[in-house]
Amino acid sequence: MKSIIFKASILLLLIGSLTACSSNSSEINKTGKEYSSAYVCPMHCDGSGSDSAGTCPVCAMDYIENDKH
Ligand SMILES: [Zn+2]
Repeated sequence: MKSIIFKASILLLLIGSLTACSSNSSEINKTGKEYSSAYVCPMHCDGSGSDSAGTCPVCAMDYIENDKH
């Protein structure tokens, strides 16, 4: 019984490290349209961002002007 708990805790550690890795890479990748467009969603949703003012197609929030554009 103890070995099953041991294996389960190893598995949880592996899953935890995998999710930590993927969240790190998404933080580094800020070069997409949702970050580089003139108008961007405040939440930077996937597929958001436009050259003109509007609303995000994902979360329906108003676009904000991108200072870094
Ligand atoms: Zn959005």
